[in-house]
Amino acid sequence: MSRIRDALAGFGVTFKTMFKKPLTEQYPEEPGPVAARYHGRHQLNRYADGLEKCIGCELCAWACPADAIYVEGADNTEQQRFSPGERYGQVYQINYLRCIGCGLCIEACPTRALTMTNDYEMADDNRSDLIYGKDKLLAPLTAEMTPPPHGMAAGSTDEDYYRGNITADGLTRHPETTP
Ligand code: SF4
Ligand code: SF4
Repeated sequence: MSRIRDALAGFGVTFKTMFKKPLTEQYPEEPGPVAARYHGRHQLNRYADGLEKCIGCELCAWACPADAIYVEGADNTEQQRFSPGERYGQVYQINYLRCIGCGLCIEACPTRALTMTNDYEMADDNRSDLIYGKDKLLAPLTAEMTPPPHGMAAGSTDEDYYRGNITADGLTRHPETTP
């Protein structure tokens, strides 16, 4: 008797499923939405004038539990300036064969240079193409930005950049951020 009951219960599940709307994802033609805070591909951000936010400090690399980040910092000069302050990230690489998407690197970054996007389409068939350098990680330049190297905004200090006082038009000191 219990076997008949079990069979009827099983067929009941099948019967109910027959009238449900199919949930087929049309990937890759129609990539589905991801959660707003999904940890996808990283991005190295820029200030409003185009200078890079990364200062080459390597804190992200030290924070990474998978040893997936490699950074080589270098000195800015007045002729060759890529970021405000003394240093910039000359070499920056993330190995996506190692990355586990934990986000500890972005928590460690002192300038918010490193964030994560929602882009998850990073599959490939060889190792070297999965090691992303600055060419793939740097945020694209917008129309208002000037490609580095170039000087800091007129009359500004590196602290103005860190405090958010720089717009595409130059230095704008906000009363609440001015010491
Ligand atoms: S998300 Fe995690 S594993 Fe990936 S690079 Fe950052 S710290 Fe390393
Ligand atoms: S991304 Fe951030 S933590 Fe990593 S080297 Fe650049 S400034 Fe430092």
